[in-house]
Amino acid sequence: MFDISNIRKDFPILSQQVNGKPLVYFDNGATSQKPQVVIDAISKYYEVINANIHRGVHTLSQIATDAYESSREKIRAHINASHAHEVIFTSGTTGAINLVASGFSEFLKAGDEILVSALEHHSNIVPWQLLCAKTGAVLKVIPMDENGELILAEYDKLLASGKVKMVAVNHISNALGTVNPIAEMINKAHEVGAAILIDGAQAVPHMQPDVQALDCDFYAFSAHKMCGPTGVGILYGKENWLQKLPPYQGGGEMIKEVTFEGSTWADLPHKFEAGTPNIADGIALGTAIDYMHDIGFENIQKQEMELLAYATEKLSGIEGLRIFGPKERKTSVISFNIDGIHPYDIGTILDKMGVAVRTGHHCAQPVMSFFCIPGTVRASFSFYNTKEEIDILVAGIEKAKRMLS
Ligand SMILES: *Cc1c(COP(=O)(O)O)cnc(C)c1O
Repeated sequence: MFDISNIRKDFPILSQQVNGKPLVYFDNGATSQKPQVVIDAISKYYEVINANIHRGVHTLSQIATDAYESSREKIRAHINASHAHEVIFTSGTTGAINLVASGFSEFLKAGDEILVSALEHHSNIVPWQLLCAKTGAVLKVIPMDENGELILAEYDKLLASGKVKMVAVNHISNALGTVNPIAEMINKAHEVGAAILIDGAQAVPHMQPDVQALDCDFYAFSAHKMCGPTGVGILYGKENWLQKLPPYQGGGEMIKEVTFEGSTWADLPHKFEAGTPNIADGIALGTAIDYMHDIGFENIQKQEMELLAYATEKLSGIEGLRIFGPKERKTSVISFNIDGIHPYDIGTILDKMGVAVRTGHHCAQPVMSFFCIPGTVRASFSFYNTKEEIDILVAGIEKAKRMLS
């Protein structure tokens, strides 16, 4: 049974007041809140387990290693990877994409092409630009339409060049909430022999990706957007790609043998995990995944889709308010503007009322340029939000309109 008031009690921060008003947290697209079990997993690690992993013969080191590796196994099962060694701990989505983009230089020559989409987060644009600058490869963009949906006919044309070696596209857009048809896009990339990386940062809070069914080569995400801690994320990679890619960073843990003449690399996943990792947070990501399964992804989606429908209806009734992005095939994000009012001013007034939304370009400046706007107000809902909170948002927007127009 999905009992919203019990679920809200799992998140200590939600009972806080901000600016003298109960917190209404609608900035889940930037980071989610953390349930007590995740907070406890972090403190328990430091209270009773703390030791470095994969090194010591002593008992605590063993316990810490087991906890870290069992978290890796939970993540493997969660995304249905074939092997635990295809699950690489990184610092986040950004770290994961940079790992792939950096090593991918080995497979490129001048004139090869890399495709990103018009909907990407800067994290899935800039690493590829750096790679192009290093290799002479060319970055091309899959365009979108006025609804904020990718134009697949244009994707086909780009793939037909025969020069595309990598496609990097998000599963769900953080700026508009668009759910991209990635299964189809993955197949099409493979038909022309290109690899494909999916930026899943905005998908994992809402759904359970199946990397084998999708058949993607890489899938990247962050813990902190799915009830887990900051500073840890995952790169899933198919075994054969991870074998071929060179190490990203050199250091302890990632070697088999080191001499001054040269070194050899450790087996997967350690080849990509140089240095002491973020052990506590890696373990807590496993706890976050357990927590989300306890709630149930079906329940999560049902609640979020109800909130989205309710908020879309209420916001659409506000005169002068324009919602950007698709009407269907989207997640629980509403990106909007009000005629003649700067998004920042709306965000500031909402903040005074205890309502946290994101304003600005959402690290997706090309999306804003497409619509010729400086930014939007983005309200992003999680399963622990309520319709009553949406009513507060609507009242806040009405108040902002009165004050500012
Ligand atoms: C948040 C986000 C990122 C970056 O994630 P970090 O945790 O900051 O590394 C990348 N892509 C999308 C779509 C995002 O929403």
